[in-house]
Amino acid sequence: MASSDTIVALATPNGTGAIAVIRLSGDDAIAIAARMFRGKDLNEVPSHTVHFGTIRDGSQILDEVLATVFVAPHSYTRENVVEFSVHNSPYIVSRLLQLAIDQGARSADPGEFTRRAFLNGGMDLSQAEAVADVIAAENKASHEIAMSQLRGGISSAMRDMREQLINFTALLELELDFSEEDVEFADRSEFLQLLANLKQHITRLIRSFEYGNAIKNGVPVAIVGKPNAGKSTLLNTLLEEERAIVSDIAGTTRDTIEETMTIDGITFRFIDTAGLRETSDQIEAIGVARAREKVRAAKILLFLYDAQDNTFEEIVQQVRDLHRDELIVVLVRNKSDLPDKGLGSTLDDALRRELLGSCASDLVVISAKDPATVQPLKSVLVNHIRGLAVADQQIITNLRHLEALKRAGEAIDNVTSGFEQGFSGDLLAPRLREAARHIGSITGEIDLDRDILGTIFGRFCIGK
Ligand code: GDP
Repeated sequence: MASSDTIVALATPNGTGAIAVIRLSGDDAIAIAARMFRGKDLNEVPSHTVHFGTIRDGSQILDEVLATVFVAPHSYTRENVVEFSVHNSPYIVSRLLQLAIDQGARSADPGEFTRRAFLNGGMDLSQAEAVADVIAAENKASHEIAMSQLRGGISSAMRDMREQLINFTALLELELDFSEEDVEFADRSEFLQLLANLKQHITRLIRSFEYGNAIKNGVPVAIVGKPNAGKSTLLNTLLEEERAIVSDIAGTTRDTIEETMTIDGITFRFIDTAGLRETSDQIEAIGVARAREKVRAAKILLFLYDAQDNTFEEIVQQVRDLHRDELIVVLVRNKSDLPDKGLGSTLDDALRRELLGSCASDLVVISAKDPATVQPLKSVLVNHIRGLAVADQQIITNLRHLEALKRAGEAIDNVTSGFEQGFSGDLLAPRLREAARHIGSITGEIDLDRDILGTIFGRFCIGK
């Protein structure tokens, strides 16, 4: 591990509170902390121990604190780390930070602790990125995905894929070394099979992004239906029920047409299309256009109708128009509390026969005014999203990973087509290396040439 200067930063949020944690990391972290701290000599204490003492500036006692000591390499950054738990007043925190700087530390850059953890091998790149996701997770489902990634969820799959590609590149390069002798080390049919498997895996991961992203940012649900179908009423009932757990996180703006709520750990963004009317007001028109865009981006569509106001033909026509691949359409008959002489259930039966399984996935009967009847609709929503998760165990949520996977997929297509056209090893190897490089970029393993050399000479002992 390279020697490193010592960085210091506040690890907890700004502002007042019971406790703040100030973190130091680097070669001199323990020595600097020991100079600030009165109590046991921190230079002498074992790793992973906590000590009570005071922090002084000259003769003035700044605070009574707890110091937690981690001796390298057994820390988050793999460096010497000391964490001071102090009373959280902005004054104490700024004095302590200044004291640490006076003693030889410098202010950490954003993300620098995690960057050091990556550079020192404590975690790979995708895990380091997951730290940010874990911190940002606002609901159970996105927390689960981020935690799985932090614990190396997609890393091992990426490493496996990359290793297979490198092994094959190594075999191809070996052939090049023996080109005069016209030998073939690499089994061509095995090779094609490998490429097909890799491509399949990559495609699955790329698809998982849509789900992962929906979980991370909320699953967009559009509520559509004629005026007076009960869209606003349904939204209000859903919101009233869930309001208690709607998070008040800064930045989640709630405009009139979009409401966010968390049901069973999954965040849904409900888009009420009641606001989608023709308008001559320019500003309003921009809002309407944005809302239309959101309906197009919806993952789930709730189609509201009732037996009085909608005919069978009309509903079928509209649902067919709205239907597209990957969109989950749920038919919702509203106003079940109104007497209709069996009209509603007859209509439902006809719609089930006509649309379920082709254009729509479920039919739910509700009375939007009555929360108890809305409950099954919530279960339908949650089950759909959970169902998607089972289909794709590994889930990517990171745009950088998505881009890398897409490029790796293209490179693999390139190898496959080159192979089918009978290209020689010296033309295929660079394309393979390209694919491996993109996959390696996800976990931060990019030192490819050295790896290929290592594989060739480590495994085959050519002795040339
Ligand atoms: P939107 O135009 O689709 O947003 O419809 P609204 O939510 O504004 O509802 C239109 C009218 O239908 C209102 O008078 C509601 O009170 C009424 N309504 C909505 N849902 C129900 C329901 O389940 N039962 C009954 N009886 N009336 C409902």
